[in-house]
Amino acid sequence: MRKKFIIGNWKMNLTLGEAQDLVFKLKNFMKGKNSTDVAVCPPYTYLLTLSNILKDSNILIGAQNMFHKEEGAFTGEISPVMLKDLNVIMVILGHSERRQIFHETDQDVNLKIKCALKFGFMPVFCVGEDFNTREKGKAEDWVKNQILEGIKDLKAEEIEKLIIAYEPIWAIGTGKICSGEDANKIIKMIRETIKLKSNDSIAQKVRILYGGSIKASNFQEHIKYPDIDGGLVGGTSLIFEEFSKVIDLASASNVHALHQSHPV
Ligand code: PEP
Repeated sequence: MRKKFIIGNWKMNLTLGEAQDLVFKLKNFMKGKNSTDVAVCPPYTYLLTLSNILKDSNILIGAQNMFHKEEGAFTGEISPVMLKDLNVIMVILGHSERRQIFHETDQDVNLKIKCALKFGFMPVFCVGEDFNTREKGKAEDWVKNQILEGIKDLKAEEIEKLIIAYEPIWAIGTGKICSGEDANKIIKMIRETIKLKSNDSIAQKVRILYGGSIKASNFQEHIKYPDIDGGLVGGTSLIFEEFSKVIDLASASNVHALHQSHPV
């Protein structure tokens, strides 16, 4: 059974003081809880301080982006070597805000994924269609193509190291939620695509998350689906009381699934 994973993407939010306050609360909340993997991805400038706070905890720390070169004349970019120095273990790549606002292409995302793997990071590879694509009934084709381009030239054992996040763009930060049924359908298709490019055992291991306006009040609807292995959470991850409830929902679904597979 795949362990559920809840990842907070803070985007460009919070002051350093607020960030410290949030991770102290999370660290405390997560003590002794190991049924769900949890990570936070703060802005770059907070990574060092927060990774020091979290080093003796069960909360992972990730970056929100990374350039695919080790060093050089790339003003404003952050390299994998720099992130390694900060004890970062994962990196979000191909987020729709990077693709839409900063014009990152599938090829850029592919280069970044390869570079992240080379440096031993866990890439959180984001895909998702916009509203027009969904309205035209092309969401599956679009996402399948993003997956194929993103994992191009990866070996099966590299594909196994990915975390994939299906995030329909129209659901990100909008309050509009993709139904659990629709999200599960796309995620199932992603798993099939991964299987085609690796094998069934790897496809069964790769964790594929849903992302888009997750709240404590709506996540139950998603996490009950067997192919949805957790959530990439934006706005809600900034509010301790809400984010901790999302983690609890994921943990409760693990327990439920365990009881279903091993009836007493
Ligand atoms: C995200 O940033 O990946 C995201 C899903 O944002 P939100 O939860 O705010 O929609």
